[in-house]
Amino acid sequence: MHSIVKNFTEIQDIINKQINEINLSKKPKIIAVSKTFKSEKIEPLLEHGHKDFGENKVQEALLKWTDLKVKYKDVNLHLIGNLQSNKVKGALKIFNFIHSLDKESVAIKISKVQKELNVRPKIFIQINIGNEEQKSGLPVQNLEKFYKFCKDLDLDIIGFMCIPPFEEDPIRYFMRMKFLQKKFNLSELSMGMSSDFLYAIKYNASYLRIGTKIFGQR
Ligand SMILES: *Cc1c(COP(=O)(O)O)cnc(C)c1O
Repeated sequence: MHSIVKNFTEIQDIINKQINEINLSKKPKIIAVSKTFKSEKIEPLLEHGHKDFGENKVQEALLKWTDLKVKYKDVNLHLIGNLQSNKVKGALKIFNFIHSLDKESVAIKISKVQKELNVRPKIFIQINIGNEEQKSGLPVQNLEKFYKFCKDLDLDIIGFMCIPPFEEDPIRYFMRMKFLQKKFNLSELSMGMSSDFLYAIKYNASYLRIGTKIFGQR
């Protein structure tokens, strides 16, 4: 078995064990974060049958995935990095999910382009859950207004996404995310990375974004 597929199945086993222990009914999906890795590194996992992959840059995704998506049907590509208005058109050509919406200008652009291209990406609003100065994501206090703004634009908002502060225990941030998910009655939560995905599962994460533990160091 290819080492990347082996890493992947090991993570699946760990997740399954955790799910049985805490009696979760819904199994979270793994987004294999393939940013910076070439197609040769990604293909073994595609051959294995995995369908969800994450990239953080629009240009890189277009270059790598335009061909891969022809060869491997039904792949769901997830944009997990920052999105600017001028990249929306490129993004909607290749990505099925957007995890990083946090600006009104970008929301407006998506609503225009999705009509133009006749697509409807599934979207997460990114929340700056630790209220960190430099971090992207929407401040929690603006969430209600922004959510309504997006719904009025006919965006398909399916959940919230966060990257908790580094070097801090993520649990209280995951708890807050779970609370917000309930409050807004949304079905999905995008949270949990290589270092903290097991904690994220406990707090309702439905999409785990895992890179290093699958593909190795970048
Ligand atoms: C790179 C990245 C990940 C994956 O991180 P790992 O620690 O390599 O698992 C997850 N989410 C976002 C937003 C990222 O940019």
